[in-house]
Amino acid sequence: MNFDIARKKMVQDQIMARGVTDRRVLDAMMKTPRHIFVQEAMAAQAYSDSPLPVGEKQTISQPYIVALMTELLELNGSEKVLEIGTGSGYQTAILAALADRVYTIERIRPLALRARKCLDSLRMFNVMLRINDGEGSPVGWEDEAPFDAIIVTAGAPAIPDVLTDQLSPGGRLVIPVGNEFEQRLLKIVKNDDGTLETFASIGCRFVPLIGKQGW
Ligand code: SAM
Repeated sequence: MNFDIARKKMVQDQIMARGVTDRRVLDAMMKTPRHIFVQEAMAAQAYSDSPLPVGEKQTISQPYIVALMTELLELNGSEKVLEIGTGSGYQTAILAALADRVYTIERIRPLALRARKCLDSLRMFNVMLRINDGEGSPVGWEDEAPFDAIIVTAGAPAIPDVLTDQLSPGGRLVIPVGNEFEQRLLKIVKNDDGTLETFASIGCRFVPLIGKQGW
Protein backbone atom coordinates (compact mmCIF):
# COMPACT_ATOMS: atom_id res chain seq x y z
CA MET A 1 0.00 0.00 0.00
CA ASN A 2 1.25 3.49 -0.88
CA PHE A 3 0.68 5.51 2.30
CA ASP A 4 1.52 8.85 0.63
CA ILE A 5 -1.25 8.41 -1.93
CA ALA A 6 -3.69 7.21 0.76
CA ARG A 7 -2.89 10.25 2.90
CA LYS A 8 -3.38 12.70 0.04
CA LYS A 9 -6.74 11.11 -0.74
CA MET A 10 -7.71 11.29 2.94
CA VAL A 11 -7.01 15.03 3.02
CA GLN A 12 -8.86 15.73 -0.23
CA ASP A 13 -11.86 13.42 0.08
CA GLN A 14 -12.50 13.39 3.83
CA ILE A 15 -11.22 16.72 5.11
CA MET A 16 -11.23 19.37 2.36
CA ALA A 17 -14.46 17.97 0.94
CA ARG A 18 -16.14 18.54 4.31
CA GLY A 19 -15.08 22.18 4.49
CA VAL A 20 -11.81 22.35 6.45
CA THR A 21 -9.83 25.18 4.84
CA ASP A 22 -6.98 26.08 7.24
CA ARG A 23 -3.95 25.57 4.99
CA ARG A 24 -1.59 24.84 7.92
CA VAL A 25 -3.92 22.12 9.24
CA LEU A 26 -4.24 20.56 5.78
CA ASP A 27 -0.44 20.61 5.33
CA ALA A 28 0.15 19.00 8.73
CA MET A 29 -2.34 16.25 7.95
CA MET A 30 -0.73 15.75 4.55
CA LYS A 31 2.70 15.30 6.13
CA THR A 32 2.00 13.32 9.30
CA PRO A 33 2.22 9.52 8.87
CA ARG A 34 -1.01 8.38 10.56
CA HIS A 35 -0.19 4.71 9.90
CA ILE A 36 2.61 4.69 12.49
CA PHE A 37 0.13 5.64 15.23
CA VAL A 38 -2.14 2.60 14.73
CA GLN A 39 -1.37 -1.02 15.55
CA GLU A 40 0.75 -2.61 12.84
CA ALA A 41 -2.03 -4.98 11.77
CA MET A 42 -4.30 -1.99 11.12
CA ALA A 43 -1.83 0.10 9.12
CA ALA A 44 -3.70 -0.50 5.86
CA GLN A 45 -6.85 1.06 7.41
CA ALA A 46 -5.06 4.05 8.92
CA TYR A 47 -6.32 6.48 6.25
CA SER A 48 -9.93 5.27 6.23
CA ASP A 49 -12.79 7.62 7.08
CA SER A 50 -13.37 6.35 10.62
CA PRO A 51 -11.97 6.05 14.13
CA LEU A 52 -9.96 2.85 14.77
CA PRO A 53 -9.25 0.83 17.91
CA VAL A 54 -5.78 1.38 19.36
CA GLY A 55 -6.01 -1.07 22.28
CA GLU A 56 -7.07 -0.61 25.93
CA LYS A 57 -10.66 -0.02 24.64
CA GLN A 58 -9.60 3.36 23.22
CA THR A 59 -9.61 4.79 19.71
CA ILE A 60 -7.65 7.00 17.35
CA SER A 61 -10.13 9.66 16.20
CA GLN A 62 -11.51 9.90 12.65
CA PRO A 63 -9.16 12.04 10.49
CA TYR A 64 -11.90 14.62 9.77
CA ILE A 65 -12.58 15.11 13.51
CA VAL A 66 -8.86 15.62 14.17
CA ALA A 67 -8.72 18.23 11.38
CA LEU A 68 -11.89 20.01 12.49
CA MET A 69 -10.90 20.18 16.18
CA THR A 70 -7.45 21.46 15.21
CA GLU A 71 -8.91 24.11 12.88
CA LEU A 72 -11.21 25.29 15.70
CA LEU A 73 -8.14 25.91 17.90
CA GLU A 74 -6.89 28.55 15.39
CA LEU A 75 -3.17 27.86 15.84
CA ASN A 76 -0.54 30.10 14.22
CA GLY A 77 2.64 28.47 15.51
CA SER A 78 3.31 30.53 18.64
CA GLU A 79 0.99 28.73 21.05
CA LYS A 80 1.34 26.70 24.18
CA VAL A 81 -1.29 23.96 23.86
CA LEU A 82 -2.74 21.49 26.38
CA GLU A 83 -4.26 18.21 25.21
CA ILE A 84 -6.25 15.91 27.53
CA GLY A 85 -6.32 12.36 26.12
CA THR A 86 -3.12 11.58 24.18
CA GLY A 87 -4.44 8.20 23.00
CA SER A 88 -2.33 7.09 20.04
CA GLY A 89 -0.50 10.44 19.89
CA TYR A 90 -1.71 11.23 16.37
CA GLN A 91 -3.67 14.37 17.31
CA THR A 92 -0.69 15.34 19.47
CA ALA A 93 1.61 15.11 16.44
CA ILE A 94 -0.68 17.38 14.42
CA LEU A 95 -0.70 19.92 17.27
CA ALA A 96 3.09 19.69 17.63
CA ALA A 97 3.48 20.53 13.94
CA LEU A 98 1.29 23.62 14.31
CA ALA A 99 2.09 25.10 17.73
CA ASP A 100 5.17 26.02 19.72
CA ARG A 101 4.76 23.56 22.63
CA VAL A 102 2.28 20.81 23.40
CA TYR A 103 1.52 19.45 26.88
CA THR A 104 -0.44 16.22 26.65
CA ILE A 105 -1.93 13.99 29.35
CA GLU A 106 -2.97 10.33 29.03
CA ARG A 107 -4.37 8.15 31.81
CA ILE A 108 -3.48 4.75 30.32
CA ARG A 109 0.24 4.05 30.69
CA PRO A 110 0.75 1.62 27.73
CA LEU A 111 -0.93 4.08 25.35
CA ALA A 112 1.14 6.97 26.68
CA LEU A 113 4.39 5.03 26.29
CA ARG A 114 3.55 3.97 22.75
CA ALA A 115 2.54 7.52 21.81
CA ARG A 116 5.83 8.85 23.21
CA LYS A 117 7.77 6.39 21.03
CA CYS A 118 5.87 7.43 17.89
CA LEU A 119 6.36 11.14 18.63
CA ASP A 120 10.06 10.63 19.31
CA SER A 121 10.44 8.71 16.04
CA LEU A 122 9.12 11.85 14.29
CA ARG A 123 11.52 13.99 16.40
CA MET A 124 8.62 15.88 17.96
CA PHE A 125 10.55 17.06 20.96
CA ASN A 126 8.23 20.01 21.62
CA VAL A 127 5.74 17.56 23.20
CA MET A 128 5.67 17.13 26.99
CA LEU A 129 3.72 14.02 27.97
CA ARG A 130 2.38 13.24 31.43
CA ILE A 131 0.68 10.07 32.62
CA ASN A 132 -2.21 10.77 34.95
CA ASP A 133 -4.22 7.75 36.00
CA GLY A 134 -7.53 9.61 36.10
CA GLU A 135 -7.71 9.94 39.89
CA GLY A 136 -9.22 13.36 40.36
CA SER A 137 -8.54 14.30 36.75
CA PRO A 138 -8.86 16.16 34.49
CA VAL A 139 -6.80 18.55 36.49
CA GLY A 140 -5.10 20.00 33.48
CA TRP A 141 -1.47 20.98 33.94
CA GLU A 142 -1.63 23.68 36.56
CA ASP A 143 2.09 24.42 36.86
CA GLU A 144 2.34 25.13 33.10
CA ALA A 145 -0.93 27.13 32.80
CA PRO A 146 -2.15 29.33 31.22
CA PHE A 147 -2.53 27.79 27.76
CA ASP A 148 -3.43 29.54 24.50
CA ALA A 149 -5.41 26.50 23.39
CA ILE A 150 -6.80 23.40 25.13
CA ILE A 151 -8.21 20.34 23.39
CA VAL A 152 -10.03 17.47 25.08
CA THR A 153 -10.25 14.32 22.96
CA ALA A 154 -12.73 12.43 25.16
CA GLY A 155 -16.42 13.17 25.80
CA ALA A 156 -17.26 15.18 28.94
CA PRO A 157 -20.62 15.63 30.72
CA ALA A 158 -20.00 19.40 31.03
CA ILE A 159 -17.34 22.02 30.35
CA PRO A 160 -14.71 21.46 33.10
CA ASP A 161 -14.11 24.79 34.83
CA VAL A 162 -10.69 23.54 35.92
CA LEU A 163 -9.77 23.75 32.20
CA THR A 164 -11.36 27.11 31.41
CA ASP A 165 -9.44 28.42 34.45
CA GLN A 166 -6.21 27.32 32.70
CA LEU A 167 -6.98 29.25 29.48
CA SER A 168 -5.16 32.50 28.82
CA PRO A 169 -7.14 35.59 27.74
CA GLY A 170 -8.10 35.04 24.09
CA GLY A 171 -7.55 31.29 24.57
CA ARG A 172 -9.70 28.57 22.97
CA LEU A 173 -10.95 25.29 24.47
CA VAL A 174 -12.34 22.61 22.12
CA ILE A 175 -14.20 19.76 23.81
CA PRO A 176 -16.97 17.23 23.06
CA VAL A 177 -19.77 17.65 25.64
CA GLY A 178 -22.84 15.48 26.06
CA ASN A 179 -23.82 12.09 27.44
CA GLU A 180 -21.77 8.88 27.22
CA PHE A 181 -23.19 8.00 23.80
CA GLU A 182 -23.26 11.26 21.87
CA GLN A 183 -21.78 14.69 22.27
CA ARG A 184 -21.54 18.06 20.56
CA LEU A 185 -18.19 19.59 19.77
CA LEU A 186 -17.95 22.92 21.61
CA LYS A 187 -15.48 25.77 21.22
CA ILE A 188 -15.18 28.00 24.27
CA VAL A 189 -13.37 31.31 23.87
CA LYS A 190 -12.08 33.22 26.87
CA ASN A 191 -12.44 36.96 26.29
CA ASP A 192 -9.85 39.44 27.53
CA ASP A 193 -12.13 40.32 30.49
CA GLY A 194 -12.26 36.64 31.50
CA THR A 195 -15.83 36.00 30.31
CA LEU A 196 -16.48 32.84 28.27
CA GLU A 197 -18.30 32.48 24.96
CA THR A 198 -19.42 29.08 23.69
CA PHE A 199 -19.90 28.10 20.04
CA ALA A 200 -21.46 24.78 19.01
CA SER A 201 -20.02 22.73 16.15
CA ILE A 202 -20.99 19.27 14.91
CA GLY A 203 -22.36 16.23 16.75
CA CYS A 204 -19.79 13.52 17.50
CA ARG A 205 -19.12 10.39 19.54
CA PHE A 206 -16.01 10.03 21.72
CA VAL A 207 -14.90 7.58 24.40
CA PRO A 208 -15.67 9.00 27.86
CA LEU A 209 -13.46 11.43 29.72
CA ILE A 210 -12.68 9.69 33.02
CA GLY A 211 -12.26 11.51 36.32
CA LYS A 212 -13.66 14.11 38.66
CA GLN A 213 -15.02 16.43 35.95
CA GLY A 214 -15.69 13.56 33.53
CA TRP A 215 -17.54 10.25 34.05
N1 SAM B 1 -6.68 12.10 20.03
C1 SAM B 1 -6.37 10.71 20.22
C2 SAM B 1 -5.70 10.12 19.01
O1 SAM B 1 -5.50 10.84 18.04
O2 SAM B 1 -5.36 8.93 19.07
C3 SAM B 1 -7.59 9.93 20.56
C4 SAM B 1 -7.87 9.97 22.00
S1 SAM B 1 -9.02 8.79 22.55
C5 SAM B 1 -10.47 9.14 21.65
C6 SAM B 1 -9.33 9.45 24.17
C7 SAM B 1 -8.21 9.25 25.15
O3 SAM B 1 -8.50 9.99 26.33
C8 SAM B 1 -8.03 7.81 25.62
O4 SAM B 1 -6.75 7.38 25.33
C9 SAM B 1 -8.32 7.86 27.11
O5 SAM B 1 -7.54 6.94 27.86
C10 SAM B 1 -7.98 9.29 27.44
N2 SAM B 1 -8.60 9.83 28.65
C11 SAM B 1 -9.86 9.70 29.09
N3 SAM B 1 -10.04 10.39 30.24
C12 SAM B 1 -8.85 10.99 30.53
C13 SAM B 1 -8.39 11.84 31.57
N4 SAM B 1 -9.19 12.24 32.53
N5 SAM B 1 -7.10 12.26 31.55
C14 SAM B 1 -6.26 11.86 30.55
N6 SAM B 1 -6.63 11.05 29.53
C15 SAM B 1 -7.92 10.62 29.52
